[in-house]
Formats: sequence, C-alpha cells, structure tokens
Amino acid sequence: MNDIELIRRTIRTVSDWPEPGVQFRDITPLLQDPRTFRVLIDQFVHRYFDARPDAIAGLDARGFIIGSVLAYELNVGFVPIRKKGKLPFTTVAESYELEYGSATVEMHTDAVKAGDRVLLIDDLIATGGTMMAGKRLLEKLGATVIEGAAIVDLPELGGSDRLRASGLALFTLVDFG
Ligand code: IMP
Repeated sequence: MNDIELIRRTIRTVSDWPEPGVQFRDITPLLQDPRTFRVLIDQFVHRYFDARPDAIAGLDARGFIIGSVLAYELNVGFVPIRKKGKLPFTTVAESYELEYGSATVEMHTDAVKAGDRVLLIDDLIATGGTMMAGKRLLEKLGATVIEGAAIVDLPELGGSDRLRASGLALFTLVDFG
C-alpha cells in the first residue's frame, strides 16, 4: 500500500457527528499510530523542505498538531490562529459565515511580519471558510501565504475551488467525496 492510501485508510469516518447527516472525517487514528503519524508529517516535510516558509500558521485546533510538528522539522516558527477570545496579547480578527451564524478567528499582531512567506495549515478543508479567514488575517499583517495545506479535502463542498479562485495555492493529501 502506498503512503497516501495508508493515510486515507487510517482516517476514521464517524457518521451523524456532530449532527445527523454529517460524515465526520476523524484524523485521530493517524496521530495515534507512530508509523502513520510519521508518514503523514513526512508528506508535508517533503513538500515544504525546499520552499522553507518563514513561518507556519496552524488553524485551531487540529492545525496546531500537524503544523507545530512540521515547523519543528523545518526549523521555522509556529503561529497559532485561534478561535475568538483565547489569545492574551493584542490581536487582529477575521469573521466568516457558517451555515448557522458566524465564527471569528484571531492572531497576535506580532505573530508575523510584513513580507513573511507563511504556510497555512489545517487538518481539513470543507467550505473553505476557516482557511480563507486565516489567509485574510495573515494578509492583514502584510504576510504572503505561499500555500494552504491540509490532510483532507471535501471537494464537493466547494471550499477548495473557492480558495483556489481567491488565488491561494493548495496542497491536500486525500479527497473524500
Ligand atoms: P470549513 O471552514 O467549512 O472549511 O471547515 C473546516 C474546519 O472545520 C477545519 O478547521 C476542520 O478542522 C473542521 N471540520 C469540518 N468538517 C470536519 C470533518 O469532517 N473532520 C474534521 N474536521 C472538520
């Protein structure tokens, strides 16, 4: 079995969570098994080793897990983009629409510098709203997002198309229909 197939097969699908009709793609089994965790991180290390961003920005919360390990491997800094109200220092904020209501993400104002080349990472792209908000936050501080990366894309929800249409290059490992 190749590495991508191993990653795909290790992701668990939980039906009707967090609400009826949703097929939740759960990456925790990937993290639990040391071999698949390493195979997963190595995919991103190989992709970004030469590009070597100035920083990696991870989206709350699973983006922290893969983003911080990748930052350590690439020897670059890690920046958390958090849900509203969690960061102690001065922040910039971006809101985005959810199916019902809206959400806000925040980042410290000194997290990146103008001109920094930043890799933005999360576990999964669904509608793309979270990653788009992260991109706007980084751009507010003058950084350039070199690519958006995720383990899983759900292409039928249109998020990856919307992100690409906004000019963001994407790198994802596995699609689920
Ligand atoms: P989006 O903003 O609609 O693209 O949703 C992506 C965000 O929601 C990411 O931060 C994901 O962690 C989370 N998310 C949405 N659906 C799933 C899922 O099926 N599995 C894991 N995370 C999900």
